[in-house]
Amino acid sequence: MKLKVIGSSSGGNCYILKPDSGKMLILEAGINIKEVGKMLTYKWKDVAGVLITHEHQDHAAYVSEFQARGIKVYATSETAERINNQVIPLQFVSKKNVLQIEDFKVMWFDTVHDAAHPVSYFISHPEMGKLLFITDTAEISQKFRGVNHLCIETNYDPNNAAFARLSESYTNRVLLSHLSIDQAEKFIINNILDKEKLESVTLLHLSSRHADKQDFPKRIKKTLSKLGRDIPVEVAQPYTIINLKQYERPNF
Ligand SMILES: [Zn+2]
Ligand SMILES: [Zn+2]
Repeated sequence: MKLKVIGSSSGGNCYILKPDSGKMLILEAGINIKEVGKMLTYKWKDVAGVLITHEHQDHAAYVSEFQARGIKVYATSETAERINNQVIPLQFVSKKNVLQIEDFKVMWFDTVHDAAHPVSYFISHPEMGKLLFITDTAEISQKFRGVNHLCIETNYDPNNAAFARLSESYTNRVLLSHLSIDQAEKFIINNILDKEKLESVTLLHLSSRHADKQDFPKRIKKTLSKLGRDIPVEVAQPYTIINLKQYERPNF
């Protein structure tokens, strides 16, 4: 399984989960459809569906373009209402909050963001195990078991000098709607319950103004190494391709 990043910022978000066999799943529709088409080599028929976390433009601006190509788009019913009436409400098509889209099993959970009903996703597939995808949230209190791949927002550093110089209204909005590098570190320590299963960490939605794409992965690496995990940590940027290999249970 490959995670192909097309965009991961307030300028636009879109990620492709591409298995070696079977259909692809797309997360977010906030990047120009022409860019997505290029990345997919225009194989629209191989896309099983698109999941949207919330209605903000950087996540949902191109929903109709996917629908025009015959691709199903899913979101919570409140988010669906804000986008358009062809978005499929997650709650209506799932059994016990689990939605099967081809080989992908999708679960979702609430996040804290200035949107109608924002969520993030916990996705499993035979080729990668379990991927936890968290973005655009002021906090994340849920605990998770069995996470093999973590994609987590690290939007800002509260101690960044440039951040301190911004207006109070701006910094308040960031604090109340996005996750910081400090929160991501604490989440890994306290909320990922079986860290021995973690195989990769990808950092999402970094601010261009008050996030450090050199420093952030180093900090997460350090946190993980204190926990005894030496695994790849990458920043999601356009054209980054991350290998999400299947978790191998150690043989004893
Ligand atoms: Zn966003
Ligand atoms: Zn947002």
